[in-house]
Amino acid sequence: MIAWKSSALPSLPGTSDDVQLYDTSAQARVTVRPAGEASLYVCGITPYDATHMGHASTYVSFDLLNRQWRDAGYTVRYVQNVTDVDDPLLERANATGADWRELAREQTQLFREDMEALNVLAPDNYVGAVEAVEWIVPVVEDLMDRGLAYRVPGTGTEPDGDLYFDVDAASRLADGDPDAWWLGQVSHLSREQMLPVFAERGGDPERPGKRNALDPLLWRLARTGEPSWDGGRLGTGRPGWHIECSVIAQRFLPRPFTVQGGGSDLVFPHHEMSAGHAFACAGTPLASHYAHAGMVGLDGAKMSKSLGNLVLVSKLRAEGVEPAAIRLVLLSHHYRTDWFWTSDQLHQAEERLVAWRKALQYTNDDDAATLLQQIRAALANDLNAPAAVAAVDAWAGTAVRSGTTGSQAGAELVCASLSALLGLQL
Ligand code: ZN
Repeated sequence: MIAWKSSALPSLPGTSDDVQLYDTSAQARVTVRPAGEASLYVCGITPYDATHMGHASTYVSFDLLNRQWRDAGYTVRYVQNVTDVDDPLLERANATGADWRELAREQTQLFREDMEALNVLAPDNYVGAVEAVEWIVPVVEDLMDRGLAYRVPGTGTEPDGDLYFDVDAASRLADGDPDAWWLGQVSHLSREQMLPVFAERGGDPERPGKRNALDPLLWRLARTGEPSWDGGRLGTGRPGWHIECSVIAQRFLPRPFTVQGGGSDLVFPHHEMSAGHAFACAGTPLASHYAHAGMVGLDGAKMSKSLGNLVLVSKLRAEGVEPAAIRLVLLSHHYRTDWFWTSDQLHQAEERLVAWRKALQYTNDDDAATLLQQIRAALANDLNAPAAVAAVDAWAGTAVRSGTTGSQAGAELVCASLSALLGLQL
């Protein structure tokens, strides 16, 4: 699948330190030191509705990591998927009478335009679930052959033979290996905590015939009216979501890759199970670190499709809002916090951009160089974008108060710093 266009990354003098990042799996801040190339997988959208502020916040957060790594001198390999076949997409297509392929195509294109407008660096590999089916089938066949996947008998409404991942059998592979996966290794949730979250986020704990209520679906056999693909020995059907990401990540990235990213609603079961699948398949961890972005709400509620309270990037763009102002609102919240979107914040961001642009003409070389160091220090400190924004505010205040004409080189360094590190074009 084609991704979107990245804007050029200006080069900066010097380099950044290695980033300190909060690792969900380690339950601690860790210094991330990629061995050679840095590698990143961020779970992509299910393209049935346009990009809302929660999505935008997640992708901008990991864009900061991508930029920080590049500034620290690493080459970065970035992979993102598109879940272009899944239940919510098919349900939406059915409800609106649209063709599911057409809906996925349209919404994926809108997402690309939103990402490009928000100046998010594009992934090196942008991979659809449909493209990945042929790679997923042999992996699930292998899990079945090794007793790590099993068929669930049919019921009156479900066919005989959907394949599920055996979380207990997979957890037993650990056998004292400190790098091994076990159920809870990523999320650290108890079984009691897992069960309701699993049900809420696409799992089916009540499905009769499962060995463990928390076993996730690997392969769903064809149903009337649903798209399906040749599954070899699995039978005609389509893959589950966790195996999709696990297989795509392992195909395009090293094992383990450096950081698995996504929204905090993906910690469990999605990242937990993707990691479990990878360890069961390959005997190696999926990722070295797991990082998660907070949720964005509106008017005191979580922003979600089901509540119908989405603030859409494309809608704001259509209203003439400058994408850099949207990005600046996102940067003014630390990526791990949950927060609420308000239009006041957008106005404040627009005013900030005006003030920063005005300050360019007054800056001198030393203040510009100091600002670069402050932005670098902020990002290396668990991607603390609000601290970087505060540093730019302070720089702008000092520059304007000086009232003296600045240097061209100073202004250029500030522009390059904000562009390369924060993705903001002044
Ligand atoms: Zn994923």
